[in-house]
Amino acid sequence: MTYREGLVVRARGGFFDVEADGEVRRCVLRGKYRWRRQEVVPGDRVRFRLLPEHTGAIEEVLPRESCLVRPAVANVRQVVIVMSLAAPPVNRLLLDRLLVMAEAIGLAPVVTFNKVDLAAGEPGPLPALYGRLGYPVLVTSAVTGQGVEGLAARLQDNISVFAGPSGAGKSSLLNAMLPGLRLKTGTVSEKIGRGRHTTRHVELLRLPGGGWVADTPGFSQLQLPPLRREELGFCFPEIAGRAGSCRFSSCLHRQEPGCAVRAAVEAGEIDAERYSHYLELLEEVIRAEKDY
Ligand code: GDP
Ligand code: ZN
Repeated sequence: MTYREGLVVRARGGFFDVEADGEVRRCVLRGKYRWRRQEVVPGDRVRFRLLPEHTGAIEEVLPRESCLVRPAVANVRQVVIVMSLAAPPVNRLLLDRLLVMAEAIGLAPVVTFNKVDLAAGEPGPLPALYGRLGYPVLVTSAVTGQGVEGLAARLQDNISVFAGPSGAGKSSLLNAMLPGLRLKTGTVSEKIGRGRHTTRHVELLRLPGGGWVADTPGFSQLQLPPLRREELGFCFPEIAGRAGSCRFSSCLHRQEPGCAVRAAVEAGEIDAERYSHYLELLEEVIRAEKDY
């Protein structure tokens, strides 16, 4: 019997589309997985037996590195956070929240500022600010194609999900990178009107230059993952880098004396808005602590 390893790209109605060697086969689950009713989701790597007519039988699900819940995708490495520079303007609190979420669940973030064509070609200070913090930053336009190749290059060799507010241009960027793909774009109300947000199954799309991307935005639920209050600072690179210089090792960088983080904010070395988002998210983490 011939076995192959492949990647589940779609799961629907008891069938699993598995890509291996450039070919997609419709597979069913065999053996113990059927009895255990283990969920097999896009992103899972599987071992399967070849059957006639481009079909197969999944014999083994290989160990997962990770699994996102909503959407359910296994082995995601990277999250592309898309913010629009105009219409709607960048929501910086949401951006910082998404960066914290990425850090807390162990995904590599890529920050994409889209719709630069609407900003008269002038992206403003945010790309440089986030770049200085060490995040990979891209400035794109799904309309003119600016930066789209660079984004596609970032997605190579990875399984990625997109995140960001509705209307930022996630679907448009995916369409721009994938010739032939026609994800619906438009305003939120238009999309709901067309039924886009009815139950959809996530699919992994293969990019022409390599890499896989989920066709449904991740992080649709914006609650922070379980974090302890002293962990939040590690999700802000400019705080993590200075926390060791605070007088108290337990410093939460609020009102504590001898706080190196506050000193850096006052000296203008840490962006004041980032710091205020840290304080806001810290309150949220403290409120949530009692729930777990
Ligand atoms: P999503 O909700 O994040 O998937 O956003 P969409 O891709 O649906 O885009 C929302 C709206 O913004 C649509 O009307 C798009 O045509 C428009 N749009 C997306 N990207 C760009 C861009 O780079 N420049 C301009 N001018 N409009 C864009
Ligand atoms: Zn401190």
